[in-house]
Amino acid sequence: MVIVMKPQATQEDITGVEKLLERLNLGVHISEGSERTIIGVIGDKRQLAETPLELMPGVQRIVHIVEPYKLAGRAFHPKNTKIQVGNEIIGGNKVLVMAGPCAVESEEQLMSTARFLKTQGATFLRGGAFKPRSSPYSFQGLEEDGLKILAEAREETGLLIISEAVSTRSLELAAKYVDIIQIGARNMQNFSLLQEVGRLKLPVMLKRGLSATIEEWLNAAEYIMSEGNYNIILCERGIRTFETYTRNTLDLSSIPAAKELSHLPVFADPSHGTGRWELVTPMSRAAIAAGADGITVEVHPNPKEALSDGPQSLNFDNFTELMIDIRRIASILGREM
Ligand code: PEP
Ligand code: MN
Repeated sequence: MVIVMKPQATQEDITGVEKLLERLNLGVHISEGSERTIIGVIGDKRQLAETPLELMPGVQRIVHIVEPYKLAGRAFHPKNTKIQVGNEIIGGNKVLVMAGPCAVESEEQLMSTARFLKTQGATFLRGGAFKPRSSPYSFQGLEEDGLKILAEAREETGLLIISEAVSTRSLELAAKYVDIIQIGARNMQNFSLLQEVGRLKLPVMLKRGLSATIEEWLNAAEYIMSEGNYNIILCERGIRTFETYTRNTLDLSSIPAAKELSHLPVFADPSHGTGRWELVTPMSRAAIAAGADGITVEVHPNPKEALSDGPQSLNFDNFTELMIDIRRIASILGREM
């Protein structure tokens, strides 16, 4: 349920409602818009049956939300959420590009990629230090050494960094270095990890689970938000379907759907979404055309030698072409890049 306050409601009116809800042991989440304040109420609302909230000073109306997610939904926060990371705003008019190797493999590999990406106008450097591999015998990542190399690349190039946490221990380590924490598809429903991330102040990129519906994905965001962290970027990264030619099926329709249902920024990952580098640029164009706030793309100096996800990684020449293409799409849509 959300309580929509009148535009002229005073701070005293808002505090009055807040105090009443707290007395009833209900969770209160305040969203202050430029025109009005919206109060999200979480918990067992049966006890409110006897309380005429509509009559309280400053209250305009009560909206009952049928979706299981509340804080992640548009009703609670009608305007798009904008997340400031460094000097960049995620969820605004600018199309943002996160790029980098699937995994940080060495200082040389990451630094050369970062220097190249900087010249191309990418804003975020991605690279896994903890890799959730399908096989326990595959390369599992450089762990903290990988995070240190990412931080070094940020120092030199000014690119902001994003890396994945796969457990509570890796989250603690990653949080010391990164600008954005990534929660991967395989952990989208690791609810205790989501709650841990929710207690951090760092922005989070939440990837859609391999077989998650849009509702399950938004419920995962709700887990993080219910702990107080509202800085979430959703990322469509392809889902399992009967198709095997592509690694996953990039669900382009989930981009406008998630943006309609939620106020959170939505990114697309055409690398994991297709598993084939040749399809990455066309699907990046399509994702931006479908309204994505940005993309995250795997780039490697020599994809044939990549320790993970080489077949879906772009080399430097391919990435240069991708940037030219999506700049064109962005410009048609009146978006900055
Ligand atoms: C990744 O971004 O490298 C990754 C493992 O992605 P996903 O969780 O979407 O598979
Ligand atoms: Mn990968």
